[in-house]
Amino acid sequence: MRLDKFLVECGIGSRKEAKKLISNNEISVNGLNNVLAKDNINENFDIIEYNGKRLQYKEFRYYVMNKKAGYITATEDFREKTVMSLLPEWVIRKDLAPVGRLDKDTEGLLLFTNDGKLNHKLLSPKNHIDKVYYVEIANNILDKDVLKLEQGVDIGNYITQPAKVEKISENKIYLTIKEGKFHQVKKMLEAINNKVCYLKRVSFGKLKLDDLALGEVKEVNLEDII
Ligand code: URA
Repeated sequence: MRLDKFLVECGIGSRKEAKKLISNNEISVNGLNNVLAKDNINENFDIIEYNGKRLQYKEFRYYVMNKKAGYITATEDFREKTVMSLLPEWVIRKDLAPVGRLDKDTEGLLLFTNDGKLNHKLLSPKNHIDKVYYVEIANNILDKDVLKLEQGVDIGNYITQPAKVEKISENKIYLTIKEGKFHQVKKMLEAINNKVCYLKRVSFGKLKLDDLALGEVKEVNLEDII
């Protein structure tokens, strides 16, 4: 693989930026920094360093963000700020896309990857990936409403699959669902004559938000996801 392509694959920036780093002698291959962008390297054997720090080649990357409210889940938009603008510089790469969608006013766990197959797989209803939401609601939730949510409710042309509800207090719950229909949690609460006041996704499959601060991003491995 060409050295500049390798640098892009490692996520250090665009091809243009990679070329600049090479011409500034900031990149070394096996200890030598008089290298060229077009040089061929072996990503499995050669030691490529950026300012003395070894770069590790990975074709696929996975990042978890604690999404802030006020950003839409899209790769680009003319009007609104997108979640892509929350990605730090060390993460940015053209082929990265969010897995699924959180509403503009929803916070919490959002996964990004350039692994298109995995993205598709995680969103497929066949795979039943659990998503856990922390939900604050307008009106106190009654036991009969909990039962309805657990059994499935009509959110308009669709009956939700059985969900799990953990009551934290009269107006705070954890709701676990397997699907990812548009505005699903909000519509489920509407179906029991309630209303979501605050929504945060706290887990997605094996991934947990843990202590990731709002707006922060961390890299994870495939084994952490499924
Ligand atoms: N359900 C919703 O209603 N909104 C989200 O952002 C996610 C799930």
